[in-house]
Amino acid sequence: TFNFSAGPAMMPEPVLEEIRDEMMNYRGSGMCVMEMSHRSPVFQQIIDEAEQDLRDLMGIPDNYKVLFIQGGATLQFSMIPMNLMKNGKAVYIETGAWSKKAIKEAQKVGEVIVAASSKDKNYTYVPDCSDLEIPEDTDYVYICENETIHGVTWNKLPNTKGHVLVSDQSSMFLSKPCNVSDYGMIYAGVQKNVGPAGMVVCIIREDLIRDDLTDLPIYLQYSTHAGAGSMYNTPNCWAIYCCGKVFKYLKSIGGLEEMHKRNLDKAKVFYDFLDSSKMFKGTVEPEFRSLMNIPFVTGSADLDKEVVTATKAAGYDNLKGHKSVGGLRASIYNAMPKEGVEALVKFLKNFEANYGK
Ligand code: PMP
Repeated sequence: TFNFSAGPAMMPEPVLEEIRDEMMNYRGSGMCVMEMSHRSPVFQQIIDEAEQDLRDLMGIPDNYKVLFIQGGATLQFSMIPMNLMKNGKAVYIETGAWSKKAIKEAQKVGEVIVAASSKDKNYTYVPDCSDLEIPEDTDYVYICENETIHGVTWNKLPNTKGHVLVSDQSSMFLSKPCNVSDYGMIYAGVQKNVGPAGMVVCIIREDLIRDDLTDLPIYLQYSTHAGAGSMYNTPNCWAIYCCGKVFKYLKSIGGLEEMHKRNLDKAKVFYDFLDSSKMFKGTVEPEFRSLMNIPFVTGSADLDKEVVTATKAAGYDNLKGHKSVGGLRASIYNAMPKEGVEALVKFLKNFEANYGK
């Protein structure tokens, strides 16, 4: 089955095979990683290597902390304003469902200025953010760098005019090279482009981690996690182990440059098909099309449904669009091979050619 789910999603097959091989006895420990104490030297090595491999992959500078936190990307919608709003003011850019959710949570904590929005065209583009009005005392500028539901992505970061940039990279994490020092903080739920659900990776500049937030619940302070090497409490050991394997796998294939090349190549196969089809149409302005999540429609809700049923029966799963927008969506994260996209395109071409005959 080729799984086109928006997440949890496919993992690289060689990684799954390695995990299978280590399942009953991790490197002579006599245990599965699921059974291991997080305080054991053997697990300490797993988490240390995972962090180091991620640092190598992304070129994360030494003045950034890498944190593995539970609560998914959703908890970050709250933790970010709770920790980073020093003056109680932040600028958010509204580009779709996930930035909207983040805005809603931040509004509970302080003043949110929505400086630009693409709501006018149903979130099918990224607004021009080269000259935003940003008050001097703004604590940070927030973006969702790839909107998973609407399938729009940022090709050029906003001009924050010297303010801290915070980015939700959940559905594009490690899909292309990233200059970490352009950001104050990057975070990503790992269940799309990396590993199993239940964890978020936060990459945060050290000077943004405050130790004066003693009234905040301890788990919600970045300083708690930073001070304890992501092990203040029992971490998601299994997710850390699996993500570590994926980081090593990405290094072995040539890193993020190579991954980006493959992702461009793969997405082109699908977008070329959409641009040539009479039945299927992409919903996003070409300049802002995501390499990871491709929403498309036939124009008829009934026909969309038929396509979902037919594709599922043929072994192409999870092509239903998100319930809030309908239509269809193919998520083609790092682990989706080009052959999967080519096979789906072939199937859809046949479907179109034979429809109504
Ligand atoms: N941000 C984005 C861009 C997402 O796609 C998602 C999940 N689909 C989330 C945040 C929320 O992630 P989680 O389910 O890990 O809380």
